[in-house]
Amino acid sequence: MTGLAEQAGVASAAPAPVESYAARTSGLRKVYGGTVAVAGVDLAVPRGAVVGVLGPNGSGKTTTIRMLLGLIRPTAGSVELLGRALPDETDRVLPRVGALVEGPGFHPFLSGRENLLRCAAFEPDLAGAEIRPAVEEALARVGLDAAAGRRFRGYSLGMKQRLGLAAALLVPRELVVLDEPTNGLDPAGTREIRQIIADLHAVGTTVLVSSHLLSEVEATCTHVAVMHRGSLVAQGELAGLLESGGPHLMISTPDLATGLEVLRDNGIPARVERGELRAELSDVDAPEVVAALVRAEVGVHEARRGRAGLEDLFARLTEEES
Ligand code: ATP
Repeated sequence: MTGLAEQAGVASAAPAPVESYAARTSGLRKVYGGTVAVAGVDLAVPRGAVVGVLGPNGSGKTTTIRMLLGLIRPTAGSVELLGRALPDETDRVLPRVGALVEGPGFHPFLSGRENLLRCAAFEPDLAGAEIRPAVEEALARVGLDAAAGRRFRGYSLGMKQRLGLAAALLVPRELVVLDEPTNGLDPAGTREIRQIIADLHAVGTTVLVSSHLLSEVEATCTHVAVMHRGSLVAQGELAGLLESGGPHLMISTPDLATGLEVLRDNGIPARVERGELRAELSDVDAPEVVAALVRAEVGVHEARRGRAGLEDLFARLTEEES
């Protein structure tokens, strides 16, 4: 097989170094007066991934995203975006990044279309004649074409979100950052956002999207970063994190000690967890576990499959908050 370089008559050289991360932060920290909003975050966003930043309200997602985009200055730590350090190379790198962050600054008395035309005028990669078609395409992509002539002031929250998203998608981007993009959207709107994210992923765009809903992250993301009280408590591939901890059965019984002994005698790995028996289902299935207990006359009041790793972690974090 002939390489492209050889076909073109160019001597093949060592391949250019591939930046494997679209964004990275190191020791990122933000303090507001006495409030530590972000407490030293090392976030890694692999190229081509759809990374969900998940966390309860106030956990520091928006503050992290704002620092990542150079919108606010970190108290400490560093940010690398598309292989370049911020803030020194902000101007160079930001045109390749599309962003939807809370409260986009649109003009209330201009229409959606006029607002977008203003945004497009600031895009260095759009030549004059390309501006109108790019604006119309972005409006259609987010389903705002019919309402594009109406004043921004009269837009619903969902329409405002769509317009912000249209601005983020005016030109092809290498990285798209969306802060709670489904805020204010109805189920149909939410599905449309999911489709837009899937389309971006299909063409190789890296997406970073924040949400406080695990179900939403599960539906759209390949990777997840979980924040809690300003810290990153887990990050990695979604599938791996969901499986961490393995499938297990939680059994409620008045006879914990005997139950534990019976399970272990039957070669089933088990332990006591929060007042219940926890049996690992790596080599056995649930009916076998229950049958072993019943045979030994251990009362089984309830048996249910345990929550998967990430689900469990996230449930514990959010339960703690409420
Ligand atoms: P939400 O899901 O509610 O948007 P979040 O995870 O995005 O929450 P942040 O908005 O980053 O969280 O806020 C993290 C913490 O920092 C909160 O305690 C918040 O009150 C505080 N905070 C954020 N911005 C400021 C600010 N400009 N001044 C003072 N405190 C702030």
